[in-house]
Amino acid sequence: MVMDHTSTGRSDKNRRIADSMRATYAKREGQVCRVFQCKIQRNKLTAGQKEELKMLFVEGKWCYNAILNSGESSSIFDYDTKSKTVVHKDKDGNDIECEYAYLPQSLRQTIHAQIKNSIRVLAARKKKGLKVGSLKYISELRSLDFKQFGVTHKIPRMNRIKLQGIKGLLKVNGMDQFYENPDYEIANVKLLNRPDGHYMAVTCWIDKDKVESKRKNNKVIGVDFGIETDFTTSEGEKIHASVQESERIKRLQKKLARQIKGSRRHARTLHLIRVEYQKMTNCKDDLANKIVAGLVENRTVVIQDEMLTHWHKGWFAGHVQHSVLGRVKSDLMRRDDVVVLNKAVPSTRFCPHCGKLNSLSLSDRIYHCDCGADDMDRDVHAARNMIWFYENNVGVGRTETSAPEIRRAIEKAFMKGNLDCHGPLKGEASTF
Ligand SMILES: [Zn+2]
Repeated sequence: MVMDHTSTGRSDKNRRIADSMRATYAKREGQVCRVFQCKIQRNKLTAGQKEELKMLFVEGKWCYNAILNSGESSSIFDYDTKSKTVVHKDKDGNDIECEYAYLPQSLRQTIHAQIKNSIRVLAARKKKGLKVGSLKYISELRSLDFKQFGVTHKIPRMNRIKLQGIKGLLKVNGMDQFYENPDYEIANVKLLNRPDGHYMAVTCWIDKDKVESKRKNNKVIGVDFGIETDFTTSEGEKIHASVQESERIKRLQKKLARQIKGSRRHARTLHLIRVEYQKMTNCKDDLANKIVAGLVENRTVVIQDEMLTHWHKGWFAGHVQHSVLGRVKSDLMRRDDVVVLNKAVPSTRFCPHCGKLNSLSLSDRIYHCDCGADDMDRDVHAARNMIWFYENNVGVGRTETSAPEIRRAIEKAFMKGNLDCHGPLKGEASTF
């Protein structure tokens, strides 16, 4: 009798969970997702909170490794996250069993879910015939997921957060990005353990129609991503954007080389180097954000989908690595007020004056066409062409994909343009 009661109770509960999940999925269809980063203010933490933060990640690491280890004897999928004890190794490699004192069960569950998910991803890749490795034991856990807003984490007021497993409120900076806008619906939070401190990545959802309407102004600019000058706009502006490796990193690298591997001093220097690299990454992100904000302000930006990854391998590898080119580009590609041209569009070679495709070598910095059009800086010319392609709807989005298709589209657009204005260049479009 009692058994019956609990089983119907459980299936009721499961049905309710399934229903609410379905409702959430339906709602998310009409929403877009934004992720905001906030930094936890370390100097405002109590000694107890510092310890709790640290231990969450230490016990998280034990939990992660214990789950992987359980795969030796049974399926990782059957691991019981309700277990209150965990076995970990001390620095001499001896097994030590202890009770979880900090890590709540909900976080152990998300660590388990994270591992299960990684296994599924690896299995899917393997199925496709790709080479896959196996999951490795970790020496440090980098992130913890707080899944349920209102349960695992709460935001009672601006710049304060309550996290499960940590007593009191934590002070964070940067919540003004989303907190004051009631249209943002706060979802999960990822607590990040970085060399330069603890951060939070807060996921928020917003209705698509509430995202401020973009393409406000009719002004269009093209942006060409080059190697020599990082970006060139159709307005002739050239932007160099790279972050230099600091003198301190070089000094620390030299110091590290002199120290004995495995010693405390060596570990300390290694940590300082990681902090420096993190700072460099922060600088790059900041610079990329500023550039993107400057480019899209009141304008529609047209860029071309070129393969940046190829440059990483080529002669220009060193240059591309320290520049923020990749960041700016991927930020731009993700925005809905940015138009991306197909990579087969001949933005460099095309002459919008006569419709000819001229060949240029990488060393030609000036674009010249025999039709009599003014010579122009190669990159500015390419950026201006992007506007032409956008306005004539050639190679925009996924319409034409192959080079011949795009050529036909150019020809058509060019002929039409000439017929409309009865320009002197009519007929010369046959030079394709
Ligand atoms: Zn020409």
